[in-house]
Amino acid sequence: MVITNDFQCNVCDSITRIKVQLGWLENYPVRIKCGKCNISIFGNVYLDQPNVGYSIKLKNVTPLEEIGKPDYLIEVSGELLTEKMRPYTGDIDTLFSPFFKNGVFSMGENIEKFKERTIRFLHKIEYEWPTVKRINELWFNGNHTYLPKEIHKLIDKTQFPADNELELLRAVHFLNSMFTNTFASNYFKGITSHIFKELGNINEKNQLFLLAQHFENQLDYYEHKLFAIINKFIDKFHMFIPVYGLDFYEEKNDKEKSIKNLGLTTVDFEDIKDFYIDTFEDIGDILNLMVAYNNLSHRADYKKMKENVIKDILNIEDFIKMRNKGRKLEFITGEENFDKIFVSKVDNRLRNAIGHRSYTYDVISQELTYYPSGDQTKGTSESLNLTEFVLECFQLMRSCIGLAEIVYQTRKFMYVKQGIIPRTLEDYFPSSIEKNLYNNTPKNKKRSLKKNKKKISKKARQNNRKK
Ligand SMILES: [Zn+2]
Repeated sequence: MVITNDFQCNVCDSITRIKVQLGWLENYPVRIKCGKCNISIFGNVYLDQPNVGYSIKLKNVTPLEEIGKPDYLIEVSGELLTEKMRPYTGDIDTLFSPFFKNGVFSMGENIEKFKERTIRFLHKIEYEWPTVKRINELWFNGNHTYLPKEIHKLIDKTQFPADNELELLRAVHFLNSMFTNTFASNYFKGITSHIFKELGNINEKNQLFLLAQHFENQLDYYEHKLFAIINKFIDKFHMFIPVYGLDFYEEKNDKEKSIKNLGLTTVDFEDIKDFYIDTFEDIGDILNLMVAYNNLSHRADYKKMKENVIKDILNIEDFIKMRNKGRKLEFITGEENFDKIFVSKVDNRLRNAIGHRSYTYDVISQELTYYPSGDQTKGTSESLNLTEFVLECFQLMRSCIGLAEIVYQTRKFMYVKQGIIPRTLEDYFPSSIEKNLYNNTPKNKKRSLKKNKKKISKKARQNNRKK
């Protein structure tokens, strides 16, 4: 259903016809601008489904009692991409609502799947995230007194005993993965099997332990960063929904055309640019770990950097010490195995421009023109539109899921190195590497898992007591 209302700007008096798409979201944000004076028009649309009611609450404009003669026309939707704002020339071009134009016509039967997944994730944010969040917090605080009890509120004790560090880690990781999996779509499955395969291909198994040892003191920090990113993303998920919808398009061409031409009304550039900058910054630190895996995978030594990328950066330590995070990205070109974690190209040019405020943003066309030099008087400008930018943020977020996976794998190697024995190998190690990996653990622990079970839990209890 589409509701048509005219709103008058409280500054310049121009009238905007806003066609509000009422879909299946109970409420959604509206972030648009006045076409004439460019001030923000923002608020929310609320849907009262049981009573078939709704309300549209927008700031900086006054709703007109009667439909008049508008100056501008825009459609707003919480679920779908929409036509951008344009001068009003008649309602002919909005004959079809966004629901048909950018929903049913583009997604076909997938629109139901899109709806179901979005609602499911919003439900999880509301009802599951508080518990998953506090479980993460207990894990970070090292507060293992309450942690198992909290974990078992959500998952089965037989499958996740949560009785030693490794088991706690596995349960926390499982809960996080189950949570993010909803919006990660195929990325999660694809990237985890890729990571398992690449770890399996590493011949120097002992290097995996050395690598883990090298990063041991950084893992807490990485986990905190990744958790902070997902936390921020969850707060903003409503704004991302129309871009998430792109996953459900039937035709690739149609999808690309929509990304290029359509806009979105759930988010303003200013609302999201800090998310991009912060995420970029946080990911920059975790790159150290990813690059170490690339080194191991391609040069059989986690310390040995790819040659001829940057002079003098030969060892992982040189790389870690690099201050210019943009230059660090020169090592990520998509050619090495673990580069695949990044869904899209990580573009320091864009980050640099936004970070130095060397950009202009046109609110009507939603076009961002930026100077990669970080200086509006230097070099040539490039541009991208809001839909592309929000998609970029979304992809950056997905990349974090891959990064979280290698942080997790690294921590597992670390625990095994410290002598904690896994309950079952299958739970811990990609099948192809488990045998070799196990041959590298200390000799006295090389007994059959079954026989050792009692001992493990005893040891685990001792470990926990020491905490
Ligand atoms: Zn105005």
